[in-house]
Amino acid sequence: MSVSPALSLPLRRVPVTRTLPSAVRLSRFHPRAFSTSVQRDATWGFIGLGQMGYNMAKNLRAKIPATDTLMIRDVNEDASKRFVKEIQEIARSSGSEPDSLKVVIAENARDLAEQSTVVVTSLPEPEHVKDVFHSILRQGELPALEQERLFIDTSTIDPASSKELANAIHTTRQGRFVDAPMSGGVVGATAGTLSFMFGASSQTGQLVERVRSVLMLMGKKAWHMGPPGTGVSGKLANNYILAINNIATAEAMNLGIRWGLDPKTLAEMVNTSTGRCWPMEINNPVPGVVETAPASRGYAGGFGVSLMNKDLRLALSAAKDSGTPMALGDIARSVYNTVEEEHRGKDFSVVYKWLQDKSEAK
Ligand code: NAD
Repeated sequence: MSVSPALSLPLRRVPVTRTLPSAVRLSRFHPRAFSTSVQRDATWGFIGLGQMGYNMAKNLRAKIPATDTLMIRDVNEDASKRFVKEIQEIARSSGSEPDSLKVVIAENARDLAEQSTVVVTSLPEPEHVKDVFHSILRQGELPALEQERLFIDTSTIDPASSKELANAIHTTRQGRFVDAPMSGGVVGATAGTLSFMFGASSQTGQLVERVRSVLMLMGKKAWHMGPPGTGVSGKLANNYILAINNIATAEAMNLGIRWGLDPKTLAEMVNTSTGRCWPMEINNPVPGVVETAPASRGYAGGFGVSLMNKDLRLALSAAKDSGTPMALGDIARSVYNTVEEEHRGKDFSVVYKWLQDKSEAK
């Protein structure tokens, strides 16, 4: 583990009775850190500093009390080092010592979980999430902390894997596992305006409130969908609609343009009519229709076509497991398989470009 003064801090959890000097010191970093529910000198863990996680962890570090420690972990060491450097810069630019905001790079997920009261994960696929949790759990029981350990997995994975992990943690009484995937993309992760949908047992109302208070450090909405697994189920239902709407929008725009309609006028009309949807309004696939959309910058950034295809795959496989027919699913899947192959790394609205290229010259 990298050297940090933070490790000498006791894992003490004391209800906040803030004194003025500490309040003044903290307010330099983030005035919203003040809440009677916030506790002091806690250790938080964050695993997976990718496109989403890196920015979420930055918001977390900015909003937890300065005296708390954030432990981070990513298989990509550069991401962790870049994170530490950036936080030191933030502290320096606010006139504080670079190490005043404590960030510790954990050597592995187990170390991080042993020390942290709240562990947030943001990993690509179900197998990454399972690997991380198996590495945490296979070394025997985690040492008890004063407050129950809370694992919040924000990754988009399948409900079966998520429930399996919740079960492994709950039956061994090693804490609470909550599935809390998110919506809002990299822009929302950076701005701290993500929407979360989470699955958590509400037998004790306290858990739901505790989860919500953590999620609100990284987002602006947190929907409690029901028991474990319902967060990822809700997310996959949402992204199934998104996958289909994106194709339908690309097709309708391509069709309208080929009929001679003005793309901006067409989009504006649809956005006040029954075809209105997020891909038409916010993420329009035609370059120049929405200036801030990825299509207007060569389909760079945004929600990658591979992630869309992954979510669609997970949704269809979960639908199959529950014997639910999805009439458009396989067609959409074959579209994304081809578009992913041809336009890997681009925003998923690149489906429009693919359709345009396939259209016959008339
Ligand atoms: P990403 O691939 O950019 O980041 C994942 C990070 O996890 C990487 O830094 C990787 O090195 C790290 N990682 C992989 N295996 C690891 C392990 N065993 N231990 C520690 N770190 C490990 O992915 P992302 O875009 O940040 O997405 C994360 C999750 O959020 C995904 O499930 C995705 O579907 C979901 N999501 C993404 C978006 C988006 O717009 N990118 C939006 C909503 C939801």
